Amino acid sequence: MQDVIQESFYRSIYPTAEATFLAQRAESLDAQALRRRVKEILHTRDGHQGLSVQQVSWLLQAVRSVADPATRAAIVDAARAVRRTCFGNQVATMVPIEVTSYCASTCKFCGWRADNKDMVRLAISETAIREQAKILARMGFSHFEIAGGDHLPFLRNSLKPLVRALKEETRAVNPEARVSLCLVPMHEAQYTELREHGLDCVLTWQETYCQELFAFHVPSGPKAWGIDLDFAMTRGGDGFMQRLRSQEMAIRSGLQAGLGAMIGLAEHTEADILSVVIHGQRLIEHYGDAVQPLIIGMPAWNSITTTASDNRESMGFNFHSEANFELIAAIYLLAYPDRRAWVFANGRVAPQVQVDCIESAAFFTSTLVQIAPGAYLGLQPEVAQRLGNGSIFIKSSIEADEITQEAIMSGEQFMHYLMPHDAFLQMFSQRGLQVVSDRSMLLH
Ligand code: SF4
Repeated sequence: MQDVIQESFYRSIYPTAEATFLAQRAESLDAQALRRRVKEILHTRDGHQGLSVQQVSWLLQAVRSVADPATRAAIVDAARAVRRTCFGNQVATMVPIEVTSYCASTCKFCGWRADNKDMVRLAISETAIREQAKILARMGFSHFEIAGGDHLPFLRNSLKPLVRALKEETRAVNPEARVSLCLVPMHEAQYTELREHGLDCVLTWQETYCQELFAFHVPSGPKAWGIDLDFAMTRGGDGFMQRLRSQEMAIRSGLQAGLGAMIGLAEHTEADILSVVIHGQRLIEHYGDAVQPLIIGMPAWNSITTTASDNRESMGFNFHSEANFELIAAIYLLAYPDRRAWVFANGRVAPQVQVDCIESAAFFTSTLVQIAPGAYLGLQPEVAQRLGNGSIFIKSSIEADEITQEAIMSGEQFMHYLMPHDAFLQMFSQRGLQVVSDRSMLLH
């Protein structure tokens, strides 16, 4: 196994990205000149290489709704052609399963931050994950993501059995089933052990690659300081660096990895997007064929469900995510070598925008999204009733008899569109898209 990538590389990602993007912007190309440059880049793109950092940065000059529509259309059209060659009309659907909304971190953009006292908190049992797994696997999903807050005692005690239970139940319905995590970043040894319990993939969104901005938005807790091998917080440690290394640790453990930055968090969100490209390209360059297709997430900075404690507007959010979502997805797809990246269209934008994005760039997507622990049991109330709240939740901030489906859904992590899985399938079929398992698109 190769040496790990040097820390200096990780520290250089955002400064490189921001300097590149701003230097090009300072050239102030007029619309026509930018269109010419973009077309030349698209024309000469080599599918074995993807695009250089400079070239991606030029495409990113077209982000923001004021940019030239013809330039934007050219980028999306080029991505659509690549998408067709690489993935045909196929799309893989995933479903996130939240296991705990308790969190010891304090990210200012998140509804589950520790200091948000308005939030209902819940943590589920192994029984609850098994029942949800059955419901979701029978609906046809083949990729199941365990997600949750930085609830370290819960993760220390429950994560391994939860991964195993989810894999067992979903495999019993669909032998193609795969399991991923979107949790606190871990060490190589922890990922290796979880792989033995059935884990396939680790998704870690960096939020921002700008260290100062990360420190501002993530001031304390495991996300700010990191964790040790026993899931204890390393107070005063470097959570920013541990997070940056999560994909590398996952790849070294034989797992697929996902990366992404939160769209709209940084003032120059384009520099964060370029950072994702620099990071992913380096992983491919360093680890070669050991890197399965990178899942490129596009979380947008959405409002949270407890509106009185939402910081988004007061902290100066100024990015039109929906107007730029498809374009950003297209740039991500073009940036990476063909088949080495799955752009992940998620439910933080309107379903119409999400499906447009799938048609032009994204192979991977979420359809049914209910981001609260235990939420999917509400799809089959008779199951929830049979189990009873006592065996569904192992911890809650409200009394067991107060836990209704409405109370559960009030505790979602942030606001998003809620369209049923069947309605997505209908839209896919209207657009000629065919749902397949993501396993079918792995490299080896
Ligand atoms: S983003 Fe994650 S780590 Fe941060 S407060 Fe929310 S749940 Fe916790």
